[in-house]
Amino acid sequence: MLIDSHCHLVHKNYEIPLEQILSEARENDVNKFITIGTSIKENVIAMQTAEKIRDVYCSIGIYPHEDKKITIKELRNSLKENLKRSSKIVAIGECGIDISNWENGRKIEDQIELFEMQIDLAKENNLPIIIHNRNGDKEVLKLLEKHSSFDLRGVIHCFDSTWEFAQKVLNLGFYVSFSNLITYPRKDDVLEVVKNIPMNRFLVETDAPYLPPQSLRGKKNYPKYVRIVTEKVAQVKQKTFEEVSKASYENTCKLFSIL
Ligand SMILES: [Zn+2]
Repeated sequence: MLIDSHCHLVHKNYEIPLEQILSEARENDVNKFITIGTSIKENVIAMQTAEKIRDVYCSIGIYPHEDKKITIKELRNSLKENLKRSSKIVAIGECGIDISNWENGRKIEDQIELFEMQIDLAKENNLPIIIHNRNGDKEVLKLLEKHSSFDLRGVIHCFDSTWEFAQKVLNLGFYVSFSNLITYPRKDDVLEVVKNIPMNRFLVETDAPYLPPQSLRGKKNYPKYVRIVTEKVAQVKQKTFEEVSKASYENTCKLFSIL
């Protein structure tokens, strides 16, 4: 039994319909899915998908560069309204820091304000946060240290940093999630994290339709390929596939309070 802890189930980039995406995943023993919201529009789609399909859960959040024209206050109100409307929202996010050459993206100060608004919302609602971190180790760590307490928990998704950084977020109580990035060449830093991380502190995900496994680069990614992430983790940790799938399944259910 596997859970794809982070995917975008409704996305224009897919070449097959949702029913087929889910049935192919189930044939590969991927039975539960968390579909991720990234903007006001996507949040509604994620919620509708989760309401319709039993084993699909969702998160709602604002990605660092989305909905740039809307004020933080309005974004907060939108998220709060969503929270009232669905019982299948298991997390706030993805939110965080993205330092890349995103066209017309938010400035770092504005990203921090948006991220902190979502951290507060997660605490108020006793929900975990799903953190996007692209080149933002320093900023993410600073904010997590500032807000960390027993009522803030979450995961750094698509982990792509060092064991040094991983240890710091693990010490703050956060989980780390591995994607098919770990199958790419020259990923020694993150492979060291895979090797060292305790069995009760990691999740697996696809981030589909992005980040296909190395063997399928250039193609679309699908939730069924969370199996490939799991195989790679097992290989690096010198554990069996069953041990890794059981651990990541249990860790995901625990973090997101999924029964
Ligand atoms: Zn994502």
